[in-house]
Amino acid sequence: MFRAPGQALRVEDVRTPEPGAGEARVAVLACGFCHTDLHYLDHGVATAKPPPIVLGHEISGRVDALGQGAEGVDVGDRVLVPAVLPCGRCEYCRTGRENICPKMRMLGNHLDGGFAEFVVVPAKDLVALPSEIDPVLGCIISDALTTPYHAVVHRARVREGERVAVVGCGGVGINAVQFAHGAGAEVVAIDLNDEKLEMARRLGAAATLNPSRTGDLGKELRRLWGDGVDVAIEAVGSPATIALAFSTLRRGGRLCLVGYSSAPAVLPAPRVMFLEYSVIGSLGCRPGDYPRVVELVRQGRIQLEPVVTGRVRLEEIAIAADRLRQGTGFRTVVLP
Ligand SMILES: [Zn+2]
Ligand SMILES: [Zn+2]
Repeated sequence: MFRAPGQALRVEDVRTPEPGAGEARVAVLACGFCHTDLHYLDHGVATAKPPPIVLGHEISGRVDALGQGAEGVDVGDRVLVPAVLPCGRCEYCRTGRENICPKMRMLGNHLDGGFAEFVVVPAKDLVALPSEIDPVLGCIISDALTTPYHAVVHRARVREGERVAVVGCGGVGINAVQFAHGAGAEVVAIDLNDEKLEMARRLGAAATLNPSRTGDLGKELRRLWGDGVDVAIEAVGSPATIALAFSTLRRGGRLCLVGYSSAPAVLPAPRVMFLEYSVIGSLGCRPGDYPRVVELVRQGRIQLEPVVTGRVRLEEIAIAADRLRQGTGFRTVVLP
């Protein structure tokens, strides 16, 4: 239970939620611990539903009970719970931009999330998880995979043969490396942590750069690749890393912002104009992306095992938060 910013999450007994009409109760099998959870805990970002609220939005589970008229899933089905539930009716939803629906609700933000034994969500939003995918690993598809997928494929529109820089190889960035490599791009991964860069290489990066040991990053990139990259995916969100990502672009390049922080960043407008740069935001993913990413994982084109680097029980959730604070590993999953 999240009770107040700056306080550790507490394990509390709550009433088992009952599914209403059209809803399913899902017994949680695993829930990934994301940087967004840390924003609520440490950085004063407010949850849409004021505390107390259960956090967690990367959920896999088993359908445990169905409310009246709930369709499309059966009790016992293994499912993925999307991080965000769009309204399905507004202009954005009806034009395929459900991820920016102004009425969307997010697990662990607008409603109780997955650091719990059960969650209740509309049955129609659940995504089938095939038996080949371990649900403990598969929970991270809900955000840590689908968010970079949407960024790489739909927003940055990375094409075969392009050069892509991924700035920040945490839980989201490392998977941007996987998707950009999978899209046929040549990827350079940029991070301060050599272990993360090593994993980025394992997952398809052709080159890596550690800014702490690279004097002039732009010069180093030009040494590698002439005039820079076609696409820079920024997965940190700080003004400094946004500026760094921008500096890697060649003429006509696209900067895709996936990382979040509340601080505004400054970009040189004359360069955007003269060199025809594009600056593109990317938020989460659309409902239609879930089955596609599930399938890419099932086919083994995207790997889960290397990027799930910790498993803790609900009672040990403070460990998951600390790992993220210290930048250790990629994703820790919480098992109720
Ligand atoms: Zn998240
Ligand atoms: Zn909507």
